[in-house]
Amino acid sequence: ADEARLVLDTFADRTTGLFHPTVRLGVTGLSRAGKTVFITALVHNLLHGGRLPLFGAQAGGRILRSYLEEQPDDAVPRFQYEDHIRTILEDRAWPQSTRAISELRLTIDYESASGWGRMFSGGRLSIDIVDYPGEWLLDLPLLDKDFATFSTEAIARARLPSRRHLAEDYLALLDTVDLTAPADEPTALALHASFAKYLTACRADRTALSTLPPGRFLMPGDLEGSPALTFAPLPVEPGHAYPKGSLAALLARRYEAYKTVVVKPFFREHFARLDRQILLVDVMQAINAGPEAVRDLETALADILACFRPGRSSWLGSFLTRRIDRILVAATKADHLHRDSHRRLEAIVRRILDDAIARAKFSGARTDVLALAAIRATREASVEDRGDRLPVIVGTPAAGETIGDETFDGKTETAIFPGDLPADPARLFVESDGGTTDPIRFVRFKPPKLERDAAGMTLSLPHIRLDRALEFLLGDRLA
Ligand code: GDP
Repeated sequence: ADEARLVLDTFADRTTGLFHPTVRLGVTGLSRAGKTVFITALVHNLLHGGRLPLFGAQAGGRILRSYLEEQPDDAVPRFQYEDHIRTILEDRAWPQSTRAISELRLTIDYESASGWGRMFSGGRLSIDIVDYPGEWLLDLPLLDKDFATFSTEAIARARLPSRRHLAEDYLALLDTVDLTAPADEPTALALHASFAKYLTACRADRTALSTLPPGRFLMPGDLEGSPALTFAPLPVEPGHAYPKGSLAALLARRYEAYKTVVVKPFFREHFARLDRQILLVDVMQAINAGPEAVRDLETALADILACFRPGRSSWLGSFLTRRIDRILVAATKADHLHRDSHRRLEAIVRRILDDAIARAKFSGARTDVLALAAIRATREASVEDRGDRLPVIVGTPAAGETIGDETFDGKTETAIFPGDLPADPARLFVESDGGTTDPIRFVRFKPPKLERDAAGMTLSLPHIRLDRALEFLLGDRLA
């Protein structure tokens, strides 16, 4: 049934595509990586003719018109572009982050670069932008695991020294439950709540991102409170049949339901139809949290990449016909660093990605790496410090942000020396002996005011390398 459904969906996508070329662009990344800001900035820059010198179609003046259209999928919430851009421009505040899947269709009328192309192609491309939490991708491995395996692994992880203190309540609760007792909803709820609380605490701790399934416990979307989410790992014995109606039987059944009604439909109906993908990564957060977080980020990336090239014999591989052919991994918020550090940031991402590619035995799609800021909230300057010139960034830190004992009021422009990234990415993976990598001074800046173009006419949102990202993701489709 899965295969048949997808063949139909893909057929529909492709036949529509004959008359009306479309590209489905997935935008993902773990929570707070910058998905909402990226999409909002991308759309604004295209709608309003932003400054995109490295995006060939726009720079060459071949884009005749860009506009939003009704999206093709009626059952998917629309990406709330208008609300988000208003928050950024009018309130100079950051928009509400991604909490579930959403979609937006942007259509571009363009002139083909070659005369030949101009004769034959209609010159219209619709981009269906699909925004979804990266956490959801990390559920794919669950499909191969039964409840006992999932439980054993999850409980073992909860007992790890680095996590035990966060899991205390949940582990204590496990000691009090009787697996064979008749199931009751309050117990199921209490177990779910304390397990979900532990996962959320691990996330807040920033040291563990990858090994926190089920993904919907962190990002429930619209399923919060539904039975398919009301379960938790239990210390069940593999192969043991628990009596019908017992707590263990109920939670095992719900775990299976989670896979069938939550995980599979997402992969089948949304993920399997993507053509291109951008994966946003907040590398600086991980660097600041230390080597464990950097290694964990690498594991998370490997797990995510594994979704893009599943084995042929796996559930996903058996029907993934439409292979994603380009994946861009982008380190976001590069405006928090001086330009001098961007190359180092890219080198770090490349190193993490190369390790992840090797680990996931990933091949096929064209991948690229870059450091970008979808919205650039700072500008660069340098200050004299005892005879040295220090590269600094200048922006307005949001109210309440602090550096050392200084607290910002949200009104004052401030110059900050963000610190240096190590030249050798390898240093970030290992606990250094004493001389640890200095943390990057990282404050949340307010979004910038709009810039005027040379003619003083259009207003566009400043960015760093958003145009390069667009060129990689869409350039060939607008050639
Ligand atoms: P999501 O959870 O992936 O949707 O993340 P968001 O797009 O909501 O971004 C999370 C936060 O990161 C925002 O509220 C901003 O504070 C910050 N952020 C994201 N992108 C940028 C950027 O390009 N520049 C700056 N300065 N901050 C950003």
